[in-house]
Amino acid sequence: MVEDSLSPAAITDGLGTRFIGQEITCYPSLPSTNDMAKQKAQEGAKEGTVIVAEEQTAGRGRIKRRWLSPRGSIALSIILYPPLDYLPCLIMVASLAVTRSIEQVTGLKAKIKWPNDVLVNDKKICGILVESDVRGNKVDYAVIGIGINVNLEVSDFPRIAPMATSLSRELGRDVSRRDMVQGLLAQAEKLYLALAAGDSVFRQWRDNLVTLGKKVQVSSGEATCRGIAESVAADGSLLLRQPDGSLLKIVAGDVTLRR
Ligand code: ATP
Repeated sequence: MVEDSLSPAAITDGLGTRFIGQEITCYPSLPSTNDMAKQKAQEGAKEGTVIVAEEQTAGRGRIKRRWLSPRGSIALSIILYPPLDYLPCLIMVASLAVTRSIEQVTGLKAKIKWPNDVLVNDKKICGILVESDVRGNKVDYAVIGIGINVNLEVSDFPRIAPMATSLSRELGRDVSRRDMVQGLLAQAEKLYLALAAGDSVFRQWRDNLVTLGKKVQVSSGEATCRGIAESVAADGSLLLRQPDGSLLKIVAGDVTLRR
């Protein structure tokens, strides 16, 4: 049996971060860790506070899509109070922290699908949802919500089975969720501090995107456009080369991307 306790004591033991994960609350079940994190942020939680749930009953993706996170997966949210210009970089910090921690703990190669998914062997293993409250030029708070399929039999969930995978499925054995959470929080802090030191996480993020160079279809509501995903801009938006040669800048907001 792998060590699979997600208690605050188990996670902080040997974590070695300065602030991310130094305050943790773990719940057996929550509707959404992001919603709880937002509430805690409004109540003045310390920067780096982490909310963990063994399962989410109403996990959300973007555009109010459902995110399934039954027991065996990781569902957590990190509370931050960043300056306004960090906001577009939080999705980069989060997705790189996920790919690095997966590689570090399991040896599996993980890649980022623009804008907010992490894939292993071309299948979705993680979803990320960054939400923030901004007043004028000030960010009241930002929460980074991360869901990772760790020890999950995806075939038990027909709605996601064709496009999803889990760490246990890829490895043929269970993985310590505690090791994954520790690795993830440590990498997130390292990248967040790098941002604060003025280092660009953009280039590392761009170099880990599977999307670039591929033919894609981008949908927003009823509208759809096709082209080659040529590049990304520093604000995280996608640059799509359309069949007529023009370059279209796509902001992540509410678009869906298909290969
Ligand atoms: P995609 O591009 O894969 O459609 P998205 O980035 O537009 O996803 P998200 O908001 O990230 O959407 O995630 C929600 C979607 O992810 C759901 O509509 C569902 O298809 C899929 N999904 C939900 N739960 C899981 C899970 N545990 N593992 C993998 N995929 C999931």
